[in-house]
Amino acid sequence: MLKKLFLIMLWCGNLFLLIACKKSYLITNNTDDFLNIIKDYQSFNEEFYDLYYQEYQLTNNIILSLNKVNYPDFFLNKYDFPSFNFEGGQFVNKNYYLAASYIPKNLVPVTINKVNRKGETMLINKEALSAASKLFDDAKSKGLNLVVFSAYRSFIKQKELYDNAKDKSYVAKAGYSEHQTGLALDIATLDTGLSIYFENTAEYLYLKNNAHLFGFINRYPKDKTMLTLYPYESWHFRFVGKSLAQKLYDENLTLEEYIYQYVELK
Ligand SMILES: [Zn+2]
Repeated sequence: MLKKLFLIMLWCGNLFLLIACKKSYLITNNTDDFLNIIKDYQSFNEEFYDLYYQEYQLTNNIILSLNKVNYPDFFLNKYDFPSFNFEGGQFVNKNYYLAASYIPKNLVPVTINKVNRKGETMLINKEALSAASKLFDDAKSKGLNLVVFSAYRSFIKQKELYDNAKDKSYVAKAGYSEHQTGLALDIATLDTGLSIYFENTAEYLYLKNNAHLFGFINRYPKDKTMLTLYPYESWHFRFVGKSLAQKLYDENLTLEEYIYQYVELK
């Protein structure tokens, strides 16, 4: 049995296929039926029909088949596309950027526990603030003291940070930072700040196990740096809403993996 399982794993070859292998059914194995279904997708390109069909037989997921064939380099830093909106808000990473003129709607001042910098009014998306406020209250009731170090950053502010950074691997180029969406928060303790020491705190452990219940995900996890293309950041949390955060938590997916499997790229 184990040997058989091992052979199946070898055959599957990669993470996505491993996930797909768990499903043993196919909607169809008839190519005419498959064409009837896939032709209605906006990103369908007749020229690649055979490739979509091949992928579909392996993955049993039409969206993933379309994305894998149309965007094979999604997990590499090879594209330069405008950011798009999906159910979790604006998707931004090293391949998807926000325009310099993009200023999110519904920005409000951060009213929860935060660091105060002279002359700075920290802003955040209104819905994200309301969720973070509940998260911070819950943490407080357990004797934990969370602090916001950074929230919304304008394109200009991000440019300044990037230009002045000594180690540019942790700092996104202007337009490519999730902080410009107004949906990202850097959260740590006063003692550790945004450093590698934060992950050893009770506060981090709490966030790791509970942030999703309030709609937040740890955006750049340690074991997925090859997929997010960002170094591990224990302090960077992204608001995506409760139901999506729960799904990502349950399926152990980064936003990149979720998009590739469930959102049709156009
Ligand atoms: Zn951050």
